[in-house]
Amino acid sequence: MALYPKHLEELINLFKKFPTVGQRSAERFSSYLLKSSPEEINALAEAILNLRKIKFCSICYNITETQPCEICSDGRRDRGTICVVEEHSDFIALEKTEYNGLYHILGGRISPLEGVGPDDLKIEELMERIKKNQPREIIIATNTDTEGETTALYLSELIKPLNVSHSRIAYGLSAGSNIANVDQLTLRRAMEGRKRLYP
Ligand SMILES: [Zn+2]
Repeated sequence: MALYPKHLEELINLFKKFPTVGQRSAERFSSYLLKSSPEEINALAEAILNLRKIKFCSICYNITETQPCEICSDGRRDRGTICVVEEHSDFIALEKTEYNGLYHILGGRISPLEGVGPDDLKIEELMERIKKNQPREIIIATNTDTEGETTALYLSELIKPLNVSHSRIAYGLSAGSNIANVDQLTLRRAMEGRKRLYP
């Protein structure tokens, strides 16, 4: 005898595909939905179906419902600066800062171990964009782990011949960190990335 009616079992199996969701959580989600009103269930189903309207921006490859995306079509943004990031989540984080330029979302980082090469990312598209628009500056804001570093170096080698100014985000200490407790690599990078105060 099956433990659950067929449709409930199907739902549980779908939830189990979600990151960090196991059998127990999948069962909880499903029984929660089972007790929800038809309106709530419809709203959820509709939200999921609406995901199909989300596409990639043809310029920066961010996810968007308009073409080009809101950032790329916003005349108030500084069009001379392109900040290159790995993922949409990095864009979200940078949007909470003062940054007012454009973005380019690579869709990941070069990782030979995971079988991700330059061709799997929007690198070729970035180079075309740089050649076409001749931005003032490219800010390479990939992560500071090994893969992010490799990707940053790779990009820098490609951008150099185009004679376009590019920079790497500074490595630093997190706010509130105690110098004595910071790991060596972080401290070395913080020293290298120091900022002159005077003159
Ligand atoms: Zn865009």
